[in-house]
Amino acid sequence: MNLSNTERKILENSIRDIKDFPKPGIIFKDITTLLNDAEAYGVLMNHLYTRYKEYNLDYVAGIDARGFIFGAALAQMLGVGFVPVRKKGKLPYTTIGEKYSLEYGIDEVEVHIDAFSKIPDAKVLLIDDLIATGGTANAAANLINQAGAKCVESCFIIGLTFLDGIKNLKEKTDVYTLVEVN
Ligand code: AMP
Repeated sequence: MNLSNTERKILENSIRDIKDFPKPGIIFKDITTLLNDAEAYGVLMNHLYTRYKEYNLDYVAGIDARGFIFGAALAQMLGVGFVPVRKKGKLPYTTIGEKYSLEYGIDEVEVHIDAFSKIPDAKVLLIDDLIATGGTANAAANLINQAGAKCVESCFIIGLTFLDGIKNLKEKTDVYTLVEVN
């Protein structure tokens, strides 16, 4: 179940480009203008619900922080649990972590060790607002699998197709993007 052209246009038109944020040369895709547009946010969430209700998911996992907005709403619509994949040092219980490279330096994401343990071999959808290099999503997918669950698909509202993130992540999990930026 994919987006219609009309739905895709509504989403594309609701995402704002901010030039040179957070540093020169970056075009930041601002999704706050999608969230505060009731029609666009509705089109998005209804589409995600229609697509993923067929998947028999056990959990939705969202990446810190914008993945929480879409992921938590979708989990509630699907009637499944939500798991936050957080930046290092934020989760209070025992965690497992995975480091990944940034342009300068490294970062790390974590999940609680028992986040998926209530359901054996849980099927998990990973979600974030955007995939660029794919480093964050790749680390998050690894964590889901290390925690005893299976990342069956990764979903991004926006995919930057001029980078290799989507191609690389496809070696690990199915990847679904709604709006592509070339
Ligand atoms: P990456 O690990 O390189 O795929 O980066 C993905 C993360 O960085 C996501 O959580 C995005 O929210 C954020 N991000 C990277 N590039 C952009 C961009 N051009 N506009 C908005 N967010 C971005």
